[in-house]
Amino acid sequence: MRKTLDQDDTEAVALDPERVRALLAEEELAYDRRVPGSRELFARAKASLFGGVPMPWMLTWPMPFPLYFDSASGARLTDVDGNEYVDFCLGDSAAMGGHSPEAVAAAIAERSAKGMTAMLPTEDAIWVGEELSRRFGLDSWQFTLSATDANRNAIRYARQITGREKVLIFNYAYHGTVDESLVMKVDGEIMARRPTIGSAGDPARLTKVVEFNDVEALEAELAQGDVACVLTEPALTNIGIVLPARGFHDEVRRLATKYGSLLVIDETHTMCAGPGGATRAYGIQPDLIVIGKWIAGGVPSGALGMTAEVARLAVDRGKGPIRGLSGVGSTVAGNALCAAAMRAILEHVLTEAAFVRMTALTDRWSAGVQAVISRAGLPWHVVQLGGRAEYRYLPSAPVNGSEGARIGDVNLDRYLHLACLNRGVLMTPFHSMALMSPAHTSADVDLHSSVFSELVDQLVAD
Ligand code: PMP
Repeated sequence: MRKTLDQDDTEAVALDPERVRALLAEEELAYDRRVPGSRELFARAKASLFGGVPMPWMLTWPMPFPLYFDSASGARLTDVDGNEYVDFCLGDSAAMGGHSPEAVAAAIAERSAKGMTAMLPTEDAIWVGEELSRRFGLDSWQFTLSATDANRNAIRYARQITGREKVLIFNYAYHGTVDESLVMKVDGEIMARRPTIGSAGDPARLTKVVEFNDVEALEAELAQGDVACVLTEPALTNIGIVLPARGFHDEVRRLATKYGSLLVIDETHTMCAGPGGATRAYGIQPDLIVIGKWIAGGVPSGALGMTAEVARLAVDRGKGPIRGLSGVGSTVAGNALCAAAMRAILEHVLTEAAFVRMTALTDRWSAGVQAVISRAGLPWHVVQLGGRAEYRYLPSAPVNGSEGARIGDVNLDRYLHLACLNRGVLMTPFHSMALMSPAHTSADVDLHSSVFSELVDQLVAD
């Protein structure tokens, strides 16, 4: 442990990178010993799955090889070796309502016994549209298979309505595998985000990038009059959490309107802020809103909401919604199974009361982590957005994505994540982030606080 002066000139602890590396190596060994069943399955998977995983990002977790899960219920997950974990990752928000909530499992079972997909609508989809309108204040809804699809569709509508091509995103935002958003800006140069596979052409042709919370830069870009839509999360959540400055969203709205661009809000992660997401919590007035992951409790689904004005403009020469092979659509999107699952999660699981509980539990999580950080004198901070919180290795929160990107400490992240896992706590990978479901308990939160305390003691020990 070494003492340094932090930004406030108070004494703060700097960690020894050698010690972090050594602790990480110990945890990797412990993991290898603890999960032989996962090790064997990974060895087998390499023969038939590309990279040995269903999706390449599964290799980016901090474990030496993937953890195979056998079952999950509520806030708990059990691996194939029978080890149990409190799950604060929740499928990176896809299981925000907890794993297999009873009401959702029952709705899926019932619907799957009487026809899942028929290229025809069911009444459940209407119920979901009505409920989403009530929660988010947007008038017209349409369904997709993922948040990515909903973002792609939103961009199409924005282009159709404005006759413009470009999309403006904030630096280091993530909106799924949408080409226009797999772009970043480094030293003033717009480039494809690494390691994007098969980027097409010049990324600056269709995308503009400015820093989050930078109103001046936003206005300079929008004033050029070529932006179809601003696409943003209410708070960035994929480069750590970056909260909006006071008044930022009012300015984004004002400038988008002033320069004729549409505002698309991506609520995929920020739904943790409350029953109407951060859109309602912050009073944002989007033209289009994107919802994904959690909306059907694990059945692949997304939703796209639009104002009555957007719905009026997004029509085929005044004849009603654009029909046929319009570039918007997927055969199984919004099918009977998806609609039944969406209805169940909205009606019975992610209710107003559930968000009160999730936020209170997250307050407790944040307080537990902050107490450990303060006791150890670490120059770290905790940041929270409703039912989601994380700690980061700087005394104060970053104001934009570029600042957020500089905070990272790969080995420290890996160590804390893996050491939590080895002690029965599953955190969201790529961050030290926790998401709460209505199924979590105070005891689950306190387990994390005590594990975190033990790990910090090891990090700062003399
Ligand atoms: N939007 C945001 C804000 C996201 O964080 C993600 C995924 N992490 C997506 C969209 C894409 O979601 P999906 O991969 O499920 O399409």
